[in-house]
Amino acid sequence: WNEDTVAVVTGGNKGIGLEVCKQLGVAGLKVVLTARNADRGQIAMETLKNEGLQHVSFHPLDVADKESCSTFASWLSKEHGGLDILVNNAGVGGVVLDDVYVRENNIILQDLMWKNMECPKGFIVDYQSARSCIETNYYGAKRVTEALLPLMRPSVNGARIINVGSYMGQLHNLRCSKLQEELSDLENVSEAFIDKLLDMYLNDVKQQTWQDKCWPLKYPSYKVSKIALHTYTRLLARQLEKRGDGNKVFVNCVHPGFVNTDMTGKVGDISAKEGAENIVRVALLPSQDSPSGQFYYEDKPGVF
Ligand code: NDP
Repeated sequence: WNEDTVAVVTGGNKGIGLEVCKQLGVAGLKVVLTARNADRGQIAMETLKNEGLQHVSFHPLDVADKESCSTFASWLSKEHGGLDILVNNAGVGGVVLDDVYVRENNIILQDLMWKNMECPKGFIVDYQSARSCIETNYYGAKRVTEALLPLMRPSVNGARIINVGSYMGQLHNLRCSKLQEELSDLENVSEAFIDKLLDMYLNDVKQQTWQDKCWPLKYPSYKVSKIALHTYTRLLARQLEKRGDGNKVFVNCVHPGFVNTDMTGKVGDISAKEGAENIVRVALLPSQDSPSGQFYYEDKPGVF
């Protein structure tokens, strides 16, 4: 890796994404920080520049918007001639606070957040938030990957795609073993299978029957979106493994840890810096050590 290595990070304006941009910049790479909101992205880029990272640029990218992805890809191709590393970090929690429950029970917001895994009450699982979660966390990462894959440059290191996954995307979160087994076996799975599964989930949310099915009871939209992302990671890795030396692309997903960011209501166990380290470590693994189609649970390989 050197100053010609181009790394693109989605959702780079805050939280883990901003820290990933910073650490890749400190490692001497050219970083393209992207964000859906131009003002927030610009400010984040300037913050990094003020910290001495001169090789950071910014371009708007809303992963939920197809046109934004293709506009970004054209700009990237013209401006940088392609990329070497893609970190699909942008994500949303997919939960809507139940204001009435919160008010009536005098609940403190932070008690409700991710840390309180045993207390899913206080959140509403509605169609709109479920759809936006799946659109961003799964289809967003896929959309950006498809737009940028043709621009990934051949190199001795192999190009890299890191999908920021989650322990909430591990298959044991599904409440039926048949679906767990189906998703485990790559021979059974395809992108069309994932699409069908996500349609089923969204339909169950629309009908409000999701609790009767095998979807997770707690944070179902988020978990389902990350299960889909992990499965896609494995499928894509298998598809890309046929590429010859010099043209390799390694695709992995990483659970960064339970991180202190806006998404967790700032009740995480580790800082955004530590969470980002878990991602950057995998992104920059020497090519001889880099697996593909792997899930990293913080700093160790984990089970899907
Ligand atoms: P934050 O909420 O702090 O940051 C999320 C980022 O994603 C923001 O920059 C947000 O932009 C951006 N984003 C959301 N939607 C879009 C979109 N449509 N297009 C582009 N950017 C978008 O969360 P974290 O930093 O904690 O999360 C980063 C990633 O890490 C997520 O994928 C999350 O699922 C994953 N993760 C986090 C864990 C944690 O404990 N925090 C644990 C496991 C995984 P904006 O500011 O405009 O909203």
